[in-house]
Order: sequence, then C-alpha cells, then structure tokens
Amino acid sequence: METLHTVSGKDVAEDKTQPFTTHHQIVIVGGGSAGITVAAQLKKKLSESDIAIVEPAEVHYYQPMWTFNGAGVFKKEKSKKLMEEVMPKHVAWIKDSVVSFHPEINSIETAGGRMISYDYLVVAPGIQIDWDKVEGLAESLGTNGICSIYSYRNLDYVEECIKNTKRGTALFTQPNTKFKCGGAPQKIMYLASDTWKKRGSLDNIAVQFTTGGSVIFGVKEVAEALAPVVERYGVEPKFFHNLKAVKAAEKIAVYDIYKDGKVVDQAEIEFEMLHVTPPQSSPDFIKQSPLADAEGWVDVHKHTMQHNKYQNIFSLGDAGSTPNAKTGAAVRKQSRVVTGNIVSLLKEGVIDTTLSYDGYGSCPLITGFGKLILAEFDYENKITPSFPINQMKERWSMYHMKKDLLPIMYWEGMLKGRA
Ligand SMILES: Cc1cc2nc3c(=O)[nH]c(=O)nc-3n(C[C@H](O)[C@H](O)[C@H](O)COP(=O)(O)OP(=O)(O)OC[C@H]3O[C@@H](n4cnc5c(N)ncnc54)[C@H](O)[C@@H]3O)c2cc1C
Repeated sequence: METLHTVSGKDVAEDKTQPFTTHHQIVIVGGGSAGITVAAQLKKKLSESDIAIVEPAEVHYYQPMWTFNGAGVFKKEKSKKLMEEVMPKHVAWIKDSVVSFHPEINSIETAGGRMISYDYLVVAPGIQIDWDKVEGLAESLGTNGICSIYSYRNLDYVEECIKNTKRGTALFTQPNTKFKCGGAPQKIMYLASDTWKKRGSLDNIAVQFTTGGSVIFGVKEVAEALAPVVERYGVEPKFFHNLKAVKAAEKIAVYDIYKDGKVVDQAEIEFEMLHVTPPQSSPDFIKQSPLADAEGWVDVHKHTMQHNKYQNIFSLGDAGSTPNAKTGAAVRKQSRVVTGNIVSLLKEGVIDTTLSYDGYGSCPLITGFGKLILAEFDYENKITPSFPINQMKERWSMYHMKKDLLPIMYWEGMLKGRA
C-alpha cells in the first residue's frame, strides 16, 4: 500500500493495484495563498463539493512577513505553517507537482505520473524566481554581503548583512521583469536605512536603489508620498539599471543600462551589501502549456478570471495574466470572483456577471520602524483607499495593522474562506 494523498490532514492509503488516475469535480493547482483561499471559500459555499489541491510542498509561507523577518522584527519561523494545518477540511491534498495540462480532455499530469481529470480547474502555482538569470547570483546568495528577502532560507542572512554594514555602499535592486510585491524591494531598504539611522551609521553608508524601471513607484501619488522618505535616508535612486551579474569575490554588481528599451551601456558598482530582488517569470510548466498567453502567464480575462479559451478553467494569483500588482491582497479580491463564478457555473450553468475584478492591489509600504504608507490602487492606477484617512501619510496605525493584524487576518480569515 502506498500513501497517495491526504484528506483533511490525514493520510489516505490507496490500493496500489489501481491505475494512477483520479477524478475530482474541482482541481486546484497550488496550495499557496490563492489555492487555499479559493478551496476554503468553495467548501463554505458548496459543502458537498469534491475538491482536490495538487501541492508538492510540506510548508505554507505567509510571504508578506518576510520583509519583517529580514529586518529582524520577527523570527522567520513565524511566517510558516505546515501545509496540513492550512488545508481546508474535506479537501483532498494530492502531494505532487503538476507538469502538464491537457485541457482538451480536462486533465492534468503530475511529476508522480498521475493523470487527474476535473470538471473545473483553478490554476494558482505562483510566480517563478529566476535566480539564474543574474550571472553569479545563485551560487553567491548568502555570502559576501549578497542577500534577498525573496528566499526564506536567506532571511537570517539579510538581517546579518544589515547588522554588519557600517560603511560603504548598500545596493537594493529591482528587476525589469514582473515580480511579486512591488513595494518589497523598497520596504527592506527603508527598514535597513532606519536601522542604520538609529545606530548613527547612515551618514557613512551610501544607499542606492537600482531599478530596471523609470520611477520609484508606478502610481504617481505614491511616488510623491515616497519622495520625502527617499530624502530622509539619503537614498540615491538609479533608474534603468538592471542587475545583470554579480562578481561575489570582488563585491561588484554589474548592471545593464537601458535607454528606450535597449541596453546602451554597462556599469559596475562596488558594494558592501547587495540586496537582490531577483528576476521573476511565469513557472516554466505554465509557459510551455496550452494555457499560457504570449508572455507565458495563464491567459485569463482581466475581470472574470476565466480562461480566455477554456471556460472551465480559472486562474488567480501571481501566475495569472491579469495586469495588476502581484500581491496577496489582489488574491483576496480575485478569489471571490473565481469562487463566485465556479459556484454560478455549477448551479446556473453560466458565470456570475455581477462579479468583476477591478485590478485591486495593495502595497503596504513600510517606510521605517513604526511607519507605513498604505498604497491601494486598481488597474487604472486609481487610488482606492480602504480607510477614510489620508493613506499617503506615514502612519503608525497602518504599520501596526500590517505587522500585527494582517497575519491574523491571513491565517484565520483569508485561508479559512472568511475574508
Ligand atoms: C518578500 C515578499 C513580500 C511580500 N509582501 C507582500 C505584502 O506586503 N502584501 C501582499 O499582499 N503581498 C505580498 N507579497 C506577495 C504575496 O506573497 C503573493 O502575491 C502571494 O503569495 C501570491 O499567491 P499565489 O497563491 O499566487 O502564490 P504562492 O502563495 O507563492 O503559492 C504558490 C503555490 O503553488 C505551488 N506550486 C508551484 N509549482 C507547482 C506545481 N508544479 N504543481 C503544484 N503546485 C505548485 C507552490 O509550492 C506554492 O505553494 C510578498 C511576497 C514576497 C516574496
């Protein structure tokens, strides 16, 4: 007998003589923020539904905490829970990785050799971190002052680098690809700068924000609100600088300099500390699938989250093609549309036309210890504040909400289908 999958956290032994094929009414690819949230909501609305989540990882991470972990506010272990603890009750957990999609026969294939068929499919495998797209990075991360909050394993080293940097240049990079959490590259920079300011060493450290982009933040009001923060810490922004290579032994970062979308030059900057936000893209197995759009993301309608070709397939979260800021906050809004549409399809045979995702994304920009600007905006970069206050002002209350309340809302609300 072999354990094939887990239902409600308990191992279910299946007969090995049975072929590796299964059918579930709703199959969800990925047990991250998006996959678990949708499964929990669906179970609340359709208690009798037969749902399976295909997810290889044993651990579920609350990634928005990683900025605080890197800055030494919380121990990194606080950001994780065992996958079996977050799996909704009466949902089958298939511990395996999806490798390919066969939408013409409503099936997916896994690394373990299973064929799983479905009536409805939700695709939510997150984004792929392309460490190897920066020459020398994968092998040097965690050494020579090179660190990143985009890796759980590296979080302690980020804290160590901030502690050890007393002079010289501290570089914080932002790639010219799409990436999750548009504010994270800056949040860790402001927390590091605030640490150095409090310690009295900021005057000896040249903080540079090197970005492949052309502005500090894509939403005008937010960029304006950040200007005094940048000034307070003496941050030097360097636009059109895209990290190309790392020479770890010499502590040199090599950048491609862009003009009009083309590389026109290269620059080398010596550093004491280099915080990297790595290039990111759609997971390879999505890029190579019939579900992908021209850029490799799961090709869904930006308001209904329904696949543009296959009507029984939905996608949300970082792997979807919707042109919003890739955040957990977006997942929260998108999940209601995906869940509502699947429920409507099952009950009425059509999607619910009253539901529409407007591109909402939220970026709680931590600008120092006890300070936060809460940026919320939609597809049109229109500010969509949740509170009747000026959210563009640095506030302790918003910092407290992000640090102490949002994690509870995540574990107890969103992942339980309540938010
Ligand atoms: C440093 C950092 C800071 C952030 N800060 C914030 C913030 O302040 N606010 C905010 O809203 N968001 C923030 N985010 C972004 C947020 O964490 C993501 O947008 C969110 O987790 C996306 O959810 P997802 O389900 O699409 O992907 P994930 O949560 O990453 O989950 C994807 C899941 O799919 C699984 N998977 C992958 N491949 C396969 C496969 N082949 N088969 C089956 N399963 C697979 C993975 O194991 C994983 O469990 C931050 C992220 C980082 C890294």
